[in-house]
Amino acid sequence: MKTAVISDVHGNFEALRAVLEEIERLDVDDLFSLGDAVGYGPEPQACVDLLRREASVNIMGNHDAAAVGMTDAAHFNVNARRAVEWTRRTLDEEAAAFLSALPYTRCREGILLAHASPGEPGAWHYVTTMEDAALCFDSFTEESCFVGHTHVPFIVSQRPDGSVEATESGGSVLEEGCRYLVNVGSVGQPRDRDSRASYALVDTGEGTVEIRRVPYDISKTQELMRRHELPPFLIERLESGR
Ligand code: ZN
Repeated sequence: MKTAVISDVHGNFEALRAVLEEIERLDVDDLFSLGDAVGYGPEPQACVDLLRREASVNIMGNHDAAAVGMTDAAHFNVNARRAVEWTRRTLDEEAAAFLSALPYTRCREGILLAHASPGEPGAWHYVTTMEDAALCFDSFTEESCFVGHTHVPFIVSQRPDGSVEATESGGSVLEEGCRYLVNVGSVGQPRDRDSRASYALVDTGEGTVEIRRVPYDISKTQELMRRHELPPFLIERLESGR
């Protein structure tokens, strides 16, 4: 059984389409999306429509919440706020109702799914350091937890003795007795200086988890963002992946 876990599509339909094409090619059985379907990118409506159809699990992200008025966007930086306000005006009622009803967490196949730190999922804490990751393991009981939110992918494992380590290679064999915390990165706005879309592929038959990268037509997304007069900083950052 192969499951793709994506997050932070952020209205970037070109990136989402490229990832969905790859997972189709790879004969992936299931798709989970960990939130921030919208915000930043130029095609929020199309992304929500596609994710509603294709993902068997969708989770609430902070930009989704802000786009439907459930979280105050006042604490967003000015670019994020402009984009989220524009997003709010473009979504139809059905998409807004869908985003409003999303859960903060879900458990599937022994994996806890959340957008941000799973301990307090509606508080949108970032997991950026090994200390954050180590603390995270105490806040869930499942074998593994997959998150997004920082737009920087990682795979961290916890051994039976409690020690934690990060996998450097981008892939990992799931060892019996170990627990895993995986950040799947971002489909629509990667920030680890690799501009390609990021997602995680879990293969339960092989017992592996892997962060995969998919190139997409960045210029097409940028062109649409210009047309909708979205902030230049958000347009430029896509090609540098930061
Ligand atoms: Zn995000």
